Amino acid sequence: MTKKKFSNKQAMTEIKVLFEKSKELFGKNKELANNYVRKARNLAMKHRMRLPLELRRKFCKDCYSYLVPGTNSRVRTKEGKVVITCFECKGFTRIPHIKEIKEKRKQL
Ligand SMILES: [Zn+2]
Repeated sequence: MTKKKFSNKQAMTEIKVLFEKSKELFGKNKELANNYVRKARNLAMKHRMRLPLELRRKFCKDCYSYLVPGTNSRVRTKEGKVVITCFECKGFTRIPHIKEIKEKRKQL
């Protein structure tokens, strides 16, 4: 096995590619799609990067399933937070609204 060394920018590109693959595979092979989610997450962790919000909404943080709203997940907004319910493990992920995060950044 060769060890590839990515810069953070390359890693982020790779992560986005992995998520694209998950999306493509979701309809055909859920297991494989979830594998790509795990890979993407591992890569992010290796680089100590936080996944962008748009990607964090696309998988379950409990079972790492790739989530498609209306298919295996439900997205609701509640008290200024986005609540994503995963039908695979019945868990839910809460994500603050982007607006809130931007405001927090201003305060820092
Ligand atoms: Zn789940």
